[in-house]
Amino acid sequence: MSELALPDYDDVAAASLRIAGYANQTPVLTSRTANDWFGAQLYFKCENFQRMGAFKFRGAMNALSQFTPQQKAAGVVAFSSGNHAQAIALAAKLLGIPATIVMPHDAPAVKVAATRGYGGQVVEYNRYTEDREQIGRQLAEQHGLTLIPPYDHPHVIAGQGTAAKELFEEVGELDALFVCLGGGGLLSGSALAARWLAPRCKVYGVEPVAGNDGQQSLRSGQIVHIDTPQTIADGAQTQHLGKYTFPLICQNVDDILTVTDDALVECMRFFAERMKIVVEPTGCLGFAAARDVRETLRGKRVGVIVSGGNVDISRFGQLLAGQDQR
Ligand SMILES: *Cc1c(COP(=O)(O)O)cnc(C)c1O
Repeated sequence: MSELALPDYDDVAAASLRIAGYANQTPVLTSRTANDWFGAQLYFKCENFQRMGAFKFRGAMNALSQFTPQQKAAGVVAFSSGNHAQAIALAAKLLGIPATIVMPHDAPAVKVAATRGYGGQVVEYNRYTEDREQIGRQLAEQHGLTLIPPYDHPHVIAGQGTAAKELFEEVGELDALFVCLGGGGLLSGSALAARWLAPRCKVYGVEPVAGNDGQQSLRSGQIVHIDTPQTIADGAQTQHLGKYTFPLICQNVDDILTVTDDALVECMRFFAERMKIVVEPTGCLGFAAARDVRETLRGKRVGVIVSGGNVDISRFGQLLAGQDQR
């Protein structure tokens, strides 16, 4: 694949037009309880209400709708056990593109079923003995498929930025925006939207403390690689930022913060009890960090991207119950 240029705000705006009619314009929710507690005005952009349950549909749809006729005919391949797999499978189905998804043999049955349900052809691999990237690339070469990575691609980044774009267009300028961070597709796209639509807004990425490679990378000025982190935030178990996401984050993001798994569970509980919404652990990263620094947010207008809601409901219950026992 030839090198593509770093995306800019125009690419986010173009993505918005491309995905309109396919993606949901998700609701921005507010909570008096949260506002009173923070002494601030909070706006939650709820991507748990996006199609397939997470913002990743935006990037997938933006990437696949730019395929050439030949690419469309041959198909797309992605490797993921999580939301990216479902996003690619659904976007491909809507556009009539065959999709092959490389998933670990022990991926949760619900996720395999969801991916198949969207029409994706699932290729299983043994995650202890086989390299999924190699399998993905092999399939791509053998069958002429186009590989779409989960975050490090300009079209994916531009698509993910449309959520923050919608947020600013709906509520106006903000003083701070808190964004979940894995490989950085959502954060770098959101930061592009913020720089253009709300230039004074501070933009913060938020990672699990167990996997703070993004924070280390931003502070050291080079991409830091870590082992797969142990955290309940399965959407943020990435090992490193990407060659597109890292420079965008360095240019446009003010800081990267970290939160504990316990804080994520407390936020899941808050979202469920107070706001009546199901948010997956990774989707709680932004709110958890805002909560930690709430003293600094008094009197401010604060945006929080709630990135997704795909969590097995019995696991959801177990996580909340575990907290009760402490
Ligand atoms: C993928 C994902 C993230 C992380 O997004 P990146 O673009 O990899 O940083 C956060 N939350 C959810 C729900 C996700 O699926």
